[in-house]
Amino acid sequence: MESAYPADLKKVLEFHGHMCPGVAIGYRLAKAALAALGYSHPDEGDLVTIAESDRCTVDPFQIILGCTLGKGKLYINSTGKQAFSVGCRTSGKAVRVIQLPYNYSAESDDLTRRVMAGRVTDEEYRQYKTARESRIQEILTMPAAELLKVESVSLSLPEKETIHNSPCCAFCGEQVMEPWTRLRAGKIACIRCATPVVR
Ligand SMILES: [Zn+2]
Ligand SMILES: [Zn+2]
Repeated sequence: MESAYPADLKKVLEFHGHMCPGVAIGYRLAKAALAALGYSHPDEGDLVTIAESDRCTVDPFQIILGCTLGKGKLYINSTGKQAFSVGCRTSGKAVRVIQLPYNYSAESDDLTRRVMAGRVTDEEYRQYKTARESRIQEILTMPAAELLKVESVSLSLPEKETIHNSPCCAFCGEQVMEPWTRLRAGKIACIRCATPVVR
């Protein structure tokens, strides 16, 4: 099945490490955000993602939109929703994509819990794998309008990363970026040294 996936989805799976419903949803959401901003490739705009979830769904945004944490293009502002705002610094446009409500059946929830706890028979495990695989296929193939919603939003994007001085902590000697320094007894301290451990 996996060999039939599009190349960009394969890249997401390489990064995330496994296929799961969350990754499938994140992939559809990220692609929908890109299209709604009018792009076919993330390099066409300078994109920033503000994620309301820090689970599996966020990883496709790092790969499909190039909004990685390390590049300062991903901010996590968790609300427990499968919702992501994507803004473009080039056009000033922003959209918020969100998964439409979906409820797994009570039996399937119960089976998932027992699989997690390792309390299933081989036959139940096969059932679980088959159901999960068909849910993933459903997510990947269903019409966007049934899976997700895209709304235009106005977003004030976080400032671009700036260059900071990096003084050394007077207590441990380790180098630290200035915004994270504190004062302890009139000397520059890192956060770890600024709050002495109380025993
Ligand atoms: Zn996952
Ligand atoms: Zn220190």
